[in-house]
Amino acid sequence: MTRLADILASRIRHNGPMDVGTFMGVVLAHPRHGYYTSRDPIGAGGDFTTAPEISQMFGEMIGAWAADLWLRLGSPAPFTLAEAGPGHGTLMADALRATRNVPGFHRALRLHLLEVSPVLKDKQALVLGAYDPVWHEDAEAWLRAGEGPLILIANEFFDALPVRQLQRGGGRWHERRISLDGNNRLIFDLAEAEPALAAMVPPHLDHMAREGDIFEIAPARCGFMTHFCAALRRRGGAALIVDYGHAAPGLGDTLQAMRHHAFVPVLDTPGEADLTTHVDFSALAQAARQSGCQTFGPVGQGAFLEALGIHERAQALKAVSGPRQILDIGTALQRLTSDGQMGGLFKVMAVTAGHDIIPAGF
Ligand code: SAH
Repeated sequence: MTRLADILASRIRHNGPMDVGTFMGVVLAHPRHGYYTSRDPIGAGGDFTTAPEISQMFGEMIGAWAADLWLRLGSPAPFTLAEAGPGHGTLMADALRATRNVPGFHRALRLHLLEVSPVLKDKQALVLGAYDPVWHEDAEAWLRAGEGPLILIANEFFDALPVRQLQRGGGRWHERRISLDGNNRLIFDLAEAEPALAAMVPPHLDHMAREGDIFEIAPARCGFMTHFCAALRRRGGAALIVDYGHAAPGLGDTLQAMRHHAFVPVLDTPGEADLTTHVDFSALAQAARQSGCQTFGPVGQGAFLEALGIHERAQALKAVSGPRQILDIGTALQRLTSDGQMGGLFKVMAVTAGHDIIPAGF
């Protein structure tokens, strides 16, 4: 049993079973034993790898996207470049290196990072220290920080925010919860779903659902999006959201735990495996539009990176590389863009307010 499994079991014993969202929140962000608060999960020695860790080209394309938007906003100075969950800081470091020749961009930017993990904060400080970043743990403070319009970046951030799960049974929706068996081990169980929660299932899926089908609802993600939008409407600017997920709502259990680059059972090692679900982009887009913002996409990550010029960038890098590196660049390009790899499952969505600019890539 992990330390966190003990803590969860004790909470369940005293307070009763918890919904999947509460479980995800504790497992990922418990102040001492949470998955993100207690380790560096990213890279070969960790549990998963992200796009910026695959190739510098990813962050470079995001940098080009941000600089293009800034220029079309009229080069506001100052403005705030804000990233949610920067991981090792690689995306931002690559984005900033790629934009150092955009006149005035670096002088105008104020860098604000949202991060819960002290371990990752230290890593970010190593590669971003020269840009004087300011760290925040509280999203609202982060969205108020800095000056001028906001350019927000979030890569593989939303997938880590909690979801609740509804499961169809006997013609009704039940909520999936985490409970205890007779040996104090964590198990899933079901309870009658609150009517307000069940009412959130889109009518066509409600009709289609068969016994055992699962629908995921992410109030925490929509809440985050609503905060993003309030800030964008107040300050102007845009957000770029990249994550794995689907463009239309669907049925299915996407809750997954990953440890040492392999899937493991969700309840076996809480706090020692990454816990995510696929992002329902339609729900995020709806939350954004209800908050008075415009949305673009989602488009596949491959199409987005291609529109930003990743093939040209790969050619330029190959031209100054040796044979081994040329192969690596080709492999990374494939991984990031091809439909069978990250190019299709990963999607990119932009949100804007305060102007009619269509962000690059859409
Ligand atoms: N964007 C990075 C890292 C993705 S992993 C990359 O692409 O490599 C998720 C990141 O979000 C980590 O930095 C993690 O510590 C952070 N994170 C997760 N939940 C968070 C929360 N609720 N608030 C702030 N940061 C969070």
